[in-house]
Amino acid sequence: MLVLEYKAVCNQRQSKAIDEAIRTSQFVRNKVLRYCMDNRGVGKKELYQYNTALRAEYAFVKDLNSHACQASVENVERAISRFFDNCKKSKPGKKGYPRFKKDARCVEYKTSGWKLHPTRRRITFSDKKNIGELKLLGKWDIHTYPAELIKRVRIVRRADGYYIQFCVKVDITTETRTENGEVGLDVGLEYFYSDSNGYHEENPRFLRKAEKAIKHAQRRIYSKEKGKNNRRKARGRYARKHLKVSRQREEHAKRVARNICKANAYVAYEELNVKGLVRNSRLAKSISDVAWSAFRRWLEYNARKFNTQVVAVPPHYTSQKCSSCGNIVKKTLSTRTHSCKCGCLLQRDVNAAINILCKAKSTGGHPESNAWGVGTSVLLGETLAHASCDVEPRIPRRVFPWGVSSSWFWCKGEDIYGVRF
Ligand SMILES: [Zn+2]
Repeated sequence: MLVLEYKAVCNQRQSKAIDEAIRTSQFVRNKVLRYCMDNRGVGKKELYQYNTALRAEYAFVKDLNSHACQASVENVERAISRFFDNCKKSKPGKKGYPRFKKDARCVEYKTSGWKLHPTRRRITFSDKKNIGELKLLGKWDIHTYPAELIKRVRIVRRADGYYIQFCVKVDITTETRTENGEVGLDVGLEYFYSDSNGYHEENPRFLRKAEKAIKHAQRRIYSKEKGKNNRRKARGRYARKHLKVSRQREEHAKRVARNICKANAYVAYEELNVKGLVRNSRLAKSISDVAWSAFRRWLEYNARKFNTQVVAVPPHYTSQKCSSCGNIVKKTLSTRTHSCKCGCLLQRDVNAAINILCKAKSTGGHPESNAWGVGTSVLLGETLAHASCDVEPRIPRRVFPWGVSSSWFWCKGEDIYGVRF
């Protein structure tokens, strides 16, 4: 599946209508979730019946397109069965029963309730929420796909406006690699990553750079009176600053991962417990700022695109071991060089990267890591040994787009990621 995202141009009335639609879809979701909690083990059929009852009971639910309501129901059902699946497979890490949403940002339409303009630069939502016609900003080529392939249309609210996402049912186009290298990657805080060939990619530290402005914007919120328009505006400014940082991070991770997969036939990286690391409060901000999980997700996506083998290895002694003789050379986090009795003198991370590559090649690692079979990125906090081997591959829930360059496209959506080349 490919997701194409456009920015929507809408007036005040339309944005209100969209908010209303989003709120309704959230209402349906929460109601259905409550129903599931009260009636354990209800099937899909009962949920649909309950949905119909909701539509009969509440006029504002009836106003939303019926398939959009169904989509909410399906999402709940999927979330619950995923939870039980995870429990049954005793997947390590945190699991939780789906929660009630209070700040939903997205409404999902299926194949009805909307219509594309023949030029495909406009979309009309035809249900009784009265959203009407929206102009689409973006340079994606939705023209190249027949309308039947568009399976879902989402309206997503972000800090800087509304976005329309089209989920198109096509496969990833593959590209050819430029080189066939082999590389081990060690991610770190000093550098974004260090590879086994001695290359260091700078850590861009987007949040650190924007921190001052963000803090300033945050303080401005509190100087405005509560409940007033100015306070709302100040909050918007603050949110947009964060949005910018998250887009920068994602774009960076995307670009770097693409370059690696394009030039290498074999990539080994270290399985990191990001969730666990973030809990270390002194490093939390720095760690979140490097966006390892995004980097990893994009490695997996690009691995498919360039037919690169991406392998994850468990992180034991990769930084302590000597890469030439195998002795353990104890060092603390602040020791930046690795020097061994055998005469091996390397930068700490390079030594680790070489170890990672060797380890992956000797053990075979966990091929494909979590990529497509098992819901992505969430696995970062867990050992892949369980996750990748005993779960049947299934159609991925997360979908990845790719396509032409577009100044309007950014990624990080609800659970959708985009590629901009
Ligand atoms: Zn040595």
